Amino acid sequence: MTLTVVGSIAFDAVETPSGSRDRLLGGSAVHFAIASSQFAETRVVGPVGDDFGEGEYEILRNRGVVTDDIEHVPGGKTFFWAGRYHRDINQRDTLQTDLNVFQDFEPKLSEASRAADVVFLANIQPDLQREVREQCTGARFVAMDTMNFWIESAHGSLLQTISLTDCLVLNDSELEQLTDEPNLTRAARKALELGPRFVIAKQGEYGAALYTREGEYFGITAYPTADIVEPTGAGDTFAGGLMGFLAAHEGEIDGGTLRRAMAYGTACASFNVEGFGSERLYELGRAEIDARVADLEQMTRF
Ligand code: AMP
Repeated sequence: MTLTVVGSIAFDAVETPSGSRDRLLGGSAVHFAIASSQFAETRVVGPVGDDFGEGEYEILRNRGVVTDDIEHVPGGKTFFWAGRYHRDINQRDTLQTDLNVFQDFEPKLSEASRAADVVFLANIQPDLQREVREQCTGARFVAMDTMNFWIESAHGSLLQTISLTDCLVLNDSELEQLTDEPNLTRAARKALELGPRFVIAKQGEYGAALYTREGEYFGITAYPTADIVEPTGAGDTFAGGLMGFLAAHEGEIDGGTLRRAMAYGTACASFNVEGFGSERLYELGRAEIDARVADLEQMTRF
């Protein structure tokens, strides 16, 4: 089963109270793919500039990520994002977002990417998400993420994209912002009315909650790790584990499948926060993920 993801491919600069890095491989699609490739062949769609070198491709290919649909834009610069974390690591400020090569990007998917049966529209301009969604005509399950930046600047386009998906995976505060509803349960119900069958609210260190159109609810706590280094991309890594599990799953995807998939997402995300960027996942084995899922199973029934 194959998986296609579109989203940002980025260089990130991050500052935390205990250290900083000025050039980390990042971006929503990258964090996602480094996790999802543990479970299913993953193809990344998106543009990069001249500054994206063989070292960056190597990191992705070492994880088995298929990079054929990464488009090199000659003379261009890769998407850049900078953020600063507070002492409470759940709080961060965005210092800079430079879309660069994403500004004029028109996704043209290869036949193999279009043929994916599971598709993730990771955080990026919602028009681009929709262009990819429309090219993947045979997809049996499509999920998406977004963030406050797009909720504010591209609201109409975002609603259109959401209506074409099966599952919305969003931070709790962004879900409330999207629906203009301060109560999370009501916000999730409103979001379900936009089209998706499932809504997953990501709640940082508190875990994640699933709401289904049938009125089912499920909550899972984050994996209790004490070694938090830097959390950028934890949400994308969660989505990567979740969607990778679904892509590897044969048969119908229902609430029960999503519960188990959320446990895999939770385990993957816990590794992401234990290092800068996705570094902790570069050499990770599937057995380490499975061990954390087994621990989670002792804590929560799924
Ligand atoms: P997260 O910590 O899950 O919110 O994801 C952070 C990642 O999203 C970073 O690697 C950034 O490069 C990327 N990112 C930040 N802002 C945006 C944006 N406006 N659109 C797409 N990706 C973004």
